[in-house]
Amino acid sequence: MKSIVTLILLCSVFISGDSVAAPAQVGSARNVVLFVGDGMGVGHLKAARWVAAGEHGKLSMDAMPVSGMLSTHSSDSPVTDSAAAATAMAAGVKTKNGAIAMDELLVSVPTILEIAAATGRSVGLVTTTPMAHATPAAFAAHVENRKAMPEIARQMLVAEPDLLLGGGEDEFLPSDQTGCHPQPGERDDGRDLIAEAVAEGYLHVCDKTAFDAVDPHATSRLLGFFSDEGMKRPFSPSLAEMTTKAINMLSTNRRGFFLMVEAGQIDWASHDNDAGNAIADTLGLDEAVEVARKFAAEAGETLVIVTADHETGGMRVTRTSSGKPDEDGPFWMPNGGVFYINWSTTRHTPLDVPVISQGPLSDRFAGENDNTHVFKVMASALGAE
Ligand SMILES: [Zn+2]
Repeated sequence: MKSIVTLILLCSVFISGDSVAAPAQVGSARNVVLFVGDGMGVGHLKAARWVAAGEHGKLSMDAMPVSGMLSTHSSDSPVTDSAAAATAMAAGVKTKNGAIAMDELLVSVPTILEIAAATGRSVGLVTTTPMAHATPAAFAAHVENRKAMPEIARQMLVAEPDLLLGGGEDEFLPSDQTGCHPQPGERDDGRDLIAEAVAEGYLHVCDKTAFDAVDPHATSRLLGFFSDEGMKRPFSPSLAEMTTKAINMLSTNRRGFFLMVEAGQIDWASHDNDAGNAIADTLGLDEAVEVARKFAAEAGETLVIVTADHETGGMRVTRTSSGKPDEDGPFWMPNGGVFYINWSTTRHTPLDVPVISQGPLSDRFAGENDNTHVFKVMASALGAE
């Protein structure tokens, strides 16, 4: 019976010519790529579509076949922070705002990165924020409070990821060293975690030239910290360039890989009610998603998920000006139309966030789900649940 179902599915896939979706309904995933647009709501996506492609335009991620919505509340608030939301997605539990990969009783819970590594897959984290910031932290560290960033940095290397690319050199260096970037480190235990990692076999890069020179096929472990704190605009390397390097490196493992890519400063720009940068970073995320989609089209067996941890700013997109002094815009569409952005708040909102997906088990993201569902689907896709 199962083989008949498989045959029917394969035939229908063949007729539709959609080779990417072919294994989606019939098998598990070799690879999972999770994109998190920190703070990215439906307003951010609409504004990015209009800037990139006009009124009826689509982003690359819009070509993915399954979309739905996720609720984002934490265990102690209708409005989540990035730590609780990232914990929900990384580990499948609701927790208090501020907690990193611990449940609401502050007991550590295994993360999808740890689970993927235990199956023999390669694992990596990419972000434009500091590496020890809440979203990437919740995939590879367990602490009660996200502010414990030097401890998060220590734990992240204990987790032995194959690759970390982003900002936040400071949390990995002692206070008497500056490393590649001007500010001194923030560790008061005197440890140089970067030197320790290099001694363990990691390649370390901290600028675009060295990053570009990394041979993904000859490098098994890579650390790239491109700033003291958050990466500076224009991001160099870009999120898409980091995603390309990450996928090229991690995909050399025949058992597959798990990769989380965070466009972390959509949130920061939205806290600043800076629509220009919020849109630019959403487009930067879309560029990175396109890299993963191209890889998935060739390699198959890859679950790609694009979502957000929460919405920031209560972004409102309109074709007519509100006339208010704090309005952003006009923003121009390629066809000459204009639009404007107004904001409801400088904080996070309780709004549901979009989730867009393709590949094995992606159909499970249709409709309305809780953000803990992201973990459950990824774990199932990796054959770990
Ligand atoms: Zn935020």
